[in-house]
Amino acid sequence: MTCSRCENLDEYVRFRTPGELFRAIGTVRQAVADGDIEEIDAGPMKGTIAFSDLSDAGPLDNILLYRFRCPDCGQNFVLGAETYHGRGGSWGKSAPLGSM
Ligand SMILES: [Zn+2]
Repeated sequence: MTCSRCENLDEYVRFRTPGELFRAIGTVRQAVADGDIEEIDAGPMKGTIAFSDLSDAGPLDNILLYRFRCPDCGQNFVLGAETYHGRGGSWGKSAPLGSM
């Protein structure tokens, strides 16, 4: 379920390098700034660094996990990455927390 507001974020994106990860973070950050999605609590697995503080110059958690929601249709999205093993991560739609 997506709507005209979030449909351009609907595509699943896989990133394998820090460069791809930060390109995705930049896209998501712009979408948040534009009001297309809003950050929501990522639950017990969430990282310790605020999404807005993420920087390719700064330290990263071993596990990155951020959740977002479309304010119009309520579609949830997750940005996750495992930086420690360099396995990359992904962006994609998700079921809301608690419904899994
Ligand atoms: Zn939407």
